[in-house]
Amino acid sequence: MSGPDHERYIRRAIELTTNAPDLPFAAVIVHRGTGDVVAEGWNKSSENPTLHGEIDAINNLIAAAPDLDRSELVLYTTAEPCPMCQGAILWSGIGAVVFGASIRFLLDIGWRQIDVPAAEVARRAPGCKCEVVGGVLEAECNELFLTASRAAPGR
Ligand SMILES: [Zn+2]
Repeated sequence: MSGPDHERYIRRAIELTTNAPDLPFAAVIVHRGTGDVVAEGWNKSSENPTLHGEIDAINNLIAAAPDLDRSELVLYTTAEPCPMCQGAILWSGIGAVVFGASIRFLLDIGWRQIDVPAAEVARRAPGCKCEVVGGVLEAECNELFLTASRAAPGR
């Protein structure tokens, strides 16, 4: 899947953050063969601290299409998956992940994060195959988090 397609789906993930503007983490799962969006999700950590946007999308995917070949799927997310989410992506067998804002950026602007890059988590799972691509619509994604920080200083 090419650059412009990546931007299209990150744009959809950005749209979904209107569901969670204070924690603008949202994810879209796409079938790379058909281009179909097969699941979406956003941060619901006020309900459950493990319900990050990626986990919500994966849960919705499994509920809707438990038998889909997940190696053909790409998960798009507004921010780099944390180790929990990257682990869930690997255990799900999802073939690729594409993100906008980096964990490094979130740390630099004062957000709580676990300081392990998604690519490092993927690299340390030799039995799993998951391509990790960062920096797609990065400025737009960064702006979501800067805006949320301005709305709630001292996060
Ligand atoms: Zn996460």
